[in-house]
Amino acid sequence: MNARRASPKPAAPIIVGVHPALSTTQDDWLASEKIRLLMKLRRSGISDTRVLGAIEQVPREAFVEEAFRDRAYEDNALPIAMEQTISMPTIVATMTQALDVQPTQCVLEIGTGSGYQAAILAKLARRVHTIERHKPLADLAAARFESLKLRNITPHVGDGSKGWPHAAPYERIIVTAAADTIPQRLMAQLAIGGVMIVPVGPHVADQQLLKLTRVAEDEVRKEVLSAVRFVPLVGE
Ligand code: SAM
Repeated sequence: MNARRASPKPAAPIIVGVHPALSTTQDDWLASEKIRLLMKLRRSGISDTRVLGAIEQVPREAFVEEAFRDRAYEDNALPIAMEQTISMPTIVATMTQALDVQPTQCVLEIGTGSGYQAAILAKLARRVHTIERHKPLADLAAARFESLKLRNITPHVGDGSKGWPHAAPYERIIVTAAADTIPQRLMAQLAIGGVMIVPVGPHVADQQLLKLTRVAEDEVRKEVLSAVRFVPLVGE
C-alpha cells in the first residue's frame, strides 16, 4: 500500500519556471489536484477535519523531488533519495487519523524520510520529534521544516528503533517503516494511555498496520487496522 505503486502519469499541464503566468497556472492545477485528493480521502473514510485541514495546509509538492512535483497530489508513494519513499497520502491520512493527536501532545516519529508526515503532525501536535537514519534525508527534511517555518519539529539523525529516550515518554508514537515484531524499546517510551501506530511484519507482502494503546504499565491493547506495504525498519 505504501511503496512503489505507480499509476499512469497524467499529462502535466505546464512546465515549471518558464514564465510567471505559466507557473501560476501550474500552482492552480496543483491546488485543484489537492482538492481532488482531499475529496478522495473523505470518500475513503478520513473524516477527522483536523487531519484533512493539516493535509490541506501542508504543500506535499515541497516534499517530493522536482521531477515529481506535478505528481505530488496523486495518491501514490513516490521515490525519494537513498532508495526510500514518501508514503502515499491515503496511508499518511489513515495513520494520522488513527493516531488521534491532540494539540497539547508530544509525538515521536520514526522514519522522517521526506519530512511530509512530520509536517502534517506538526499542524496537530505541540511538538514532534522525528528520527531518520540517513543523514542526507534528515538534512533535507530539516531544511524543508525551516523554509515552511515548522518550528515545533525537532529532527534527529540516528537509529529510530531505539527511540529518543531524552524526551520520553511520548503521548503518541508513529513508525513509518515496518518492524519485524512489536518494537518493545519504543513501547517503553510510550506514556500510559498513549497510542503507537506501527506497521509490523517481517515480509513486505505480509505486514499489518497496528494501533497499540498502552492502557497500563504492563498492558497493551492491540488493534489491527489494515494490510500495508512499508520499507523495513532497519535497526539493531
Ligand atoms: N515518513 C516519511 C515521509 O513522510 O516521507 C516516509 C518514511 S519512508 C516510508 C521510511 C523511512 O524510515 C526511510 O526514510 C528510512 O530511511 C527510515 N528508517 C528505516 N529504518 C530506520 C531506523 N531504524 N531509524 C530511523 N529511520 C529509519
